[in-house]
Amino acid sequence: MIEFSDVTKQYPDGTIAVDGLSLTIESGSFTVFVGPSGCGKTTSMRMINRMIAPTSGTISVDGKDITTSNAVQLRRGMGYVIQSAGLLPHRTVVDNVATVPVLQGVSRRAARKSALEVLERVGLDLALATRYPAQLSGGQQQRVGVARALAADPPILLMDEPFSAVDPVVREDLQNEMQRLQAELRKTIVFVTHDIDEAVKLGDKVAVFGRGGVLQQYDEPQKVLAS
Ligand code: ADP
Ligand code: ADP
Repeated sequence: MIEFSDVTKQYPDGTIAVDGLSLTIESGSFTVFVGPSGCGKTTSMRMINRMIAPTSGTISVDGKDITTSNAVQLRRGMGYVIQSAGLLPHRTVVDNVATVPVLQGVSRRAARKSALEVLERVGLDLALATRYPAQLSGGQQQRVGVARALAADPPILLMDEPFSAVDPVVREDLQNEMQRLQAELRKTIVFVTHDIDEAVKLGDKVAVFGRGGVLQQYDEPQKVLAS
């Protein structure tokens, strides 16, 4: 469980991005932060893995205040996927996915073997595994991005507009893949989007953001559309 208690973030220029946010994200839930641009969704997500520190308030993971955890340890438990897959350009697809496990001490051979398994799981054609990222389409790169985030089998997956930059047909494909994966893996997923249809399709919990934080939370995503 991830818990925000009265969390505020003010950037050095004075912008208050998040204002007194309290929110509980249940373990194993697919929680979507949805709302217009600029209302603090990304800032909130980045505070979960300590990329950004709150100005006040506390965030805990499984009851433990994250400011008391070691940042590297904390991030090991969290895969992170962003809009541009952010792959390493000079490494092949399989090595991109194997990188984190290798850094964590897994042998290269074992890491490559499990990287191929994860790539298969996210639906990538394995013939692409020895290519470089630039040789893949945007949608294929995003699949690799998801595989990389899952490679070390973290319990938490943070996803920031992961499918916004791909065309609608591929996006739908990736969304379906995510649904299938989550049914299998039951991670705690925090997913940021500005697309209400995507939120309702993927989320089992939806937090609708307005300026500075959550306006309303829904346990039944369909109700977002009714409101
Ligand atoms: P969202 O993800 O909902 O689009 P963000 O969390 O990115 O919202 O941004 C929330 C607010 O904080 C916006 O007004 C944005 O301009 C501002 N903001 C984001 N990052 C910074 C920063 N590094 N410095 C100053 N203001 C920022
Ligand atoms: P650090 O980022 O603190 O130097 P490592 O490079 O050892 O730590 O990475 C540990 C874990 O944190 C890896 O799973 C990596 O994918 C993840 N990670 C690294 N940097 C970031 C980041 N900026 N945002 C989210 N996760 C990250």
